[in-house]
Amino acid sequence: MRGLDTKTALVTGGGGGFGTAIARRLATEGATVAVNDLDEQRTADTVEAIREAGGEAFPAVADVTDLAAVQSMVAEVEDRAGLDILVNNAGWDRISWFLDQEPEAWDRILDVNLRGQINCARAAGELFSAQEHGTIVAISSDAGRVGSSGEAVYAGTKGGVIAFTKTLARELARDGVTCNVVCPGPADTPMTREMRAESDLAASIFDAMEDQTPLGRMTDPDDVAGAVAFLASDDAAFVTGQVLSVSGGLTMVG
Ligand code: NAP
Repeated sequence: MRGLDTKTALVTGGGGGFGTAIARRLATEGATVAVNDLDEQRTADTVEAIREAGGEAFPAVADVTDLAAVQSMVAEVEDRAGLDILVNNAGWDRISWFLDQEPEAWDRILDVNLRGQINCARAAGELFSAQEHGTIVAISSDAGRVGSSGEAVYAGTKGGVIAFTKTLARELARDGVTCNVVCPGPADTPMTREMRAESDLAASIFDAMEDQTPLGRMTDPDDVAGAVAFLASDDAAFVTGQVLSVSGGLTMVG
């Protein structure tokens, strides 16, 4: 992937399933990676794994739902290594029929998935606009393109991520900033493992989605990492406002 070896990427939720794979792949392509997560130990684990493999990484612990904390994090990353790429990946979900789901769950889903991406895009977007280059890759979900039973509010936030990121692509293009969206299908990650453990409904929904996937398996975090690396690289310099599903054909949106 062209150009990543001179860039610094901030990957939010970089201690989780997709975030770890994305951070490792970007580092393998030569990028310096600032690994964000809520959890210090998980952040340190990803940083350590990248360094052991010969890559460059450093921790950037912050809660993406807190705008002031995100602004400080972005300023610190920029001071330390510059910043060219934001991967807006941190997320949270719980499976439940909408009419049974408690408003407390809606609050966390809305805060992490939508407010978190807005906060990070604002802080990084101000920098990218001023320096007249940068790219944002947002992790949404196929749920945000076609809906997903048991994930009404989550799907709403992921649809919001798509519309938000497309709008950023329009507004920031004049400053040379590109913004794109990756929509993974269901994968085996800490988030989905927790959901399966907590609810038979979640397990049955994930199993059904796997059965319905034309390529016959769940999404692997490395599948998503490859798509993110492409969109973050100079090979995608003329791609903006686009939505790419990485889900084995689970959805085929025109
Ligand atoms: P994951 O393994 O739970 O990783 C997400 C990471 O984000 C976790 O380490 C989590 O920490 C962290 N995080 C949560 N809230 C945060 C906050 N406020 N500030 C900073 N970090 C925070 O989940 P994943 O499956 O890799 O999901 C990554 C992204 O892919 C999410 O946006 C998700 O919606 C999306 N996605 C996942 C799937 C799937 O099937 N796995 C499918 C489509 C899309 P905690 O564990 O402490 O909460």
